[in-house]
Amino acid sequence: MMRMLCLPGDGIGPEITSAARAVVDASGAAVAWSEAAIGFAALDAVGTTIPDDIIAAARAADGILLGPVSHNLYPPVAAGGKNPSGTLRKALELFANIRPARSYDGVPTPTGATADMVIFRENLEGFYADRNMVSGGSEMMVSPGIAIAIRKITEQGSTRIARAAFDAAASRRRKVVAVHKANVMRTTCGLFLDACRAVAASFPDIEYSEMLVDAAAAHLVRDPEQFYIIVTTNMFGDILSDLASELSGGLGLAGSLNLGAAHAIAQAQHGSAPDIAGRDIANPTSMILSASMLLAHSGAREPAARIDRALARCLARPSTRTRDLGGSLGTRAFAKTVIAEMQP
Ligand code: NAD
Repeated sequence: MMRMLCLPGDGIGPEITSAARAVVDASGAAVAWSEAAIGFAALDAVGTTIPDDIIAAARAADGILLGPVSHNLYPPVAAGGKNPSGTLRKALELFANIRPARSYDGVPTPTGATADMVIFRENLEGFYADRNMVSGGSEMMVSPGIAIAIRKITEQGSTRIARAAFDAAASRRRKVVAVHKANVMRTTCGLFLDACRAVAASFPDIEYSEMLVDAAAAHLVRDPEQFYIIVTTNMFGDILSDLASELSGGLGLAGSLNLGAAHAIAQAQHGSAPDIAGRDIANPTSMILSASMLLAHSGAREPAARIDRALARCLARPSTRTRDLGGSLGTRAFAKTVIAEMQP
């Protein structure tokens, strides 16, 4: 029995996590759920968006389903407004953010091309001000009108994200491209590339190449089918994965898994969509796919495959899609349809 912790989050979070839980429960996976408030619900109740006891509960769980959070709208950290997502990634040492971008039969893509790639994004360093220091942030106002940001890249962080990408390539896709900007960021991206090359040398059967991040953006639009596995640093991965998801049919179709040596968090790629919250119209596909990635990672491969097949069948028909994809189903009705598709 897997002990899963659900943290619904803000905006559409409660609606899409509830849909994902219902689908997981119907998939045949043996899961025992607990649920706890984060975000505005926790801020109202206990004065912080991510209470310490929730971090402890996340550490104790076998897996976590994390809804999106409205961190842009939070008060300052001193007033309790910490980003739960960044805090959990750091506290649980989730160094890899794995973001597939896959097109589906019947779902149009903006350029007409199909896509089936996975982006391995380093998750704990880079330019992210809330992540790469033991204490304090890594952005500073030097003097009025002058601000600087520090980008941390480590050999350890680069090596472990590269290894995660090559491990995945070894099991099914034998091609990895490292995306970087070492022509100008010679020291930081240079260190990242050195680590990727060292890992590549221990996987001689996997085709390894390198691409500048600006060229990668252009190639993604021109020919997304050339990409299988991309490994890259935090901010490049954040941006390129949204681009890749849009090119494969939309952000609402993009699952993601935050992975460390001991913990994993399923998290949709999109945000909390406050503009459509509480109306039962959000597309829960991204959250459901993320939950399925978590199940597969935890060893429940058959339930995960059942969910993925049912989702693909629902997405193939306009009549069983949500509004954002040209259908008319609400969040709950879509989840019910996916569940019905899973029945033998
Ligand atoms: P967003 O991803 O929430 O929304 C962008 C657009 O996409 C909106 O029009 C929204 O309605 C639509 N959309 C998003 N998810 C959808 C879904 N599942 N179904 C249908 N439509 C969907 O981005 P935003 O508006 O820039 O950010 C809103 C809030 O989310 C901000 O507070 C931001 O900080 C936060 N955010 C959180 C995360 C996270 O928790 N991982 C990630 C990104 C943004």
